[in-house]
Amino acid sequence: MNIKLQTLKMRLAEVVDLQRSSALLSWEQQTYMPPGGAKARAEQLATLQGLAHRLFITDEIGGLIKELSNSSGQWDYDTDEASLIRFVAREYERESKIPTELVAELASTTALAQEAWASARQNDDYSEFQPHLQKVIELSRQRAECFAPYDHLYDPLLDKYEPDMKTSEVQKMFSGMKDELIDLVDAIKSRADVVNNEILYGDFDIDRQREFGLCIAKKLGYDLNRGRQDETLHPFCTHFSIDDVRITTRFDSRFLPSALFGTMHEVGHALYEQGISPELARTGMDTGVSLGVHESQSRLWENLVGRSRPFWLHFFPQLQTVFPDQLGQVTHDEFYRAINRSEPSLIRVEADEVTYNLHIIIRFELELDLLSGDLHLNDLPAAWTEKYKDYLGIVPHNDSDGVLQDIHWSIGAIGYFATYTIGNLLSVQLFDCAQKEITDLESDISKGNFDGLLYWLRENIHCHGSKFTAGELVKRVTGDSMDSRPYLNYLHNKYSNIYSL
Ligand code: ZN
Repeated sequence: MNIKLQTLKMRLAEVVDLQRSSALLSWEQQTYMPPGGAKARAEQLATLQGLAHRLFITDEIGGLIKELSNSSGQWDYDTDEASLIRFVAREYERESKIPTELVAELASTTALAQEAWASARQNDDYSEFQPHLQKVIELSRQRAECFAPYDHLYDPLLDKYEPDMKTSEVQKMFSGMKDELIDLVDAIKSRADVVNNEILYGDFDIDRQREFGLCIAKKLGYDLNRGRQDETLHPFCTHFSIDDVRITTRFDSRFLPSALFGTMHEVGHALYEQGISPELARTGMDTGVSLGVHESQSRLWENLVGRSRPFWLHFFPQLQTVFPDQLGQVTHDEFYRAINRSEPSLIRVEADEVTYNLHIIIRFELELDLLSGDLHLNDLPAAWTEKYKDYLGIVPHNDSDGVLQDIHWSIGAIGYFATYTIGNLLSVQLFDCAQKEITDLESDISKGNFDGLLYWLRENIHCHGSKFTAGELVKRVTGDSMDSRPYLNYLHNKYSNIYSL
């Protein structure tokens, strides 16, 4: 083993350990920490993240990267060694541009902002959150400015979540999709009576929901010896190692789909993390390559599998036995149509597949205006309302269902939202490939057998972690680059069928 590579790996392992310990504290903050713990937690997170950053941008690591890059020709491009050198060189170049003090300040500011957001959301009081958001935006702007010159101030923020993606590419992609989506939403609106989802509202015991959700999670391949489920205000998936990948869920006793599809979504993320090659552990490459690719995995399981007819051929009879009073008289077809009902709504995480991306486009456009200074925070709720009226034809009646609904801005995740739509587009491109390459996939799904699909995803996507860039990975699997056409075609086909358009 190359001694320099060995040393680099040892240094990286220390950095990764600190980052994962910090992630554990963040998970605990969202699951069990009493609100009073926020101030001390903010300090702890700032210390840990600052320490991890300082340990990473040392001259020693910089020197090792330089020397190893010069001799990287000795390893084939696809090897773990060559991939590690490319990966760390990119990360090092990016992180060295940001002062450690800013990293620490962002960590403490967002830990406090998160508590303020949770309280503001509960109290439906935007003014409680606004000063925290102001600070998050200022620090995000400072972070972006570290990367000057850039084509767009938003580029460095986007790059954190979707490396190599440019703001102009997202703008082009969104403007290409927007009108077509709005037209489809309008077409469905004119046929709204065709699909009814009243059966999904009622009184659904939360313990039974949890048990059924976990039963599906295990069937999909989620290994609970290396994972667990907890409850949070905002569902998410996090990991501290390949062998400790956790999901959280939000349960609603009055609306069945929230936790049901939320669980499948987070399990999709968890399967990705659990499927990464153990060889990559503690290198930093032991995580999904980009948030877009990550989201492609959650959306693939949630929508392309979980909202499909074949899936419920297997699971609906079981669900009926769990909720006999509510669903005993419902047919498979009625259930399938109900869970796919499309209607403009206020809450992104519960939006159907057609309207979902409009929620994302709204947030993306607002973030650009906030960052550029064209939109002042005092005017944010009004701008939010205006866009919802324009794109979806509905308006929120309070800020909890409007600007306060998502956790992202409070945790400093500005530049993040676009990756949800990228994930949707990729989910269809990847699933199309899986369908071509796996014989009888649909029939397997209708029997509750997901082994073939999971194996295919493991081999083609999961095991690689961050060895390749997102663009490289998509090209390797699909032979193509990211494209919105397959996704739009999928939506047209599925919803023309459901709504007889
Ligand atoms: Zn997700």
